[in-house]
Amino acid sequence: MKANYGYLDGSGEYFITIDTDLCIECAPHSCVAACPANLFEIIVDDYDDEVAAIKEEQRKKIKYACGPCKPVTDRPMLPCIAACTPGAVSHSW
Ligand code: SF4
Ligand code: SF4
Repeated sequence: MKANYGYLDGSGEYFITIDTDLCIECAPHSCVAACPANLFEIIVDDYDDEVAAIKEEQRKKIKYACGPCKPVTDRPMLPCIAACTPGAVSHSW
């Protein structure tokens, strides 16, 4: 399942998408330690699987939390994407 966390406002859409099917087989959960803003957590979903999610209290401000990772030019690969070797994480902006 693709889970979307974030919001949209007048300036754009700010969503982090996590393909939780890929999290089920992921032992290291590297996204949690990789994110300098500490946005990720591991939860147990409705199917009793451990999957990554964005913390509830962060979901309405991810544009700002992610800002330091996202310079306007010369943007490096984001730490959360680099750490997630299964390729479960994507961003809408
Ligand atoms: S590293 Fe990727 S696959 Fe593993 S738990 Fe985090 S988001 Fe899911
Ligand atoms: S872009 Fe940076 S702050 Fe945002 S989720 Fe990824 S690692 Fe965390």
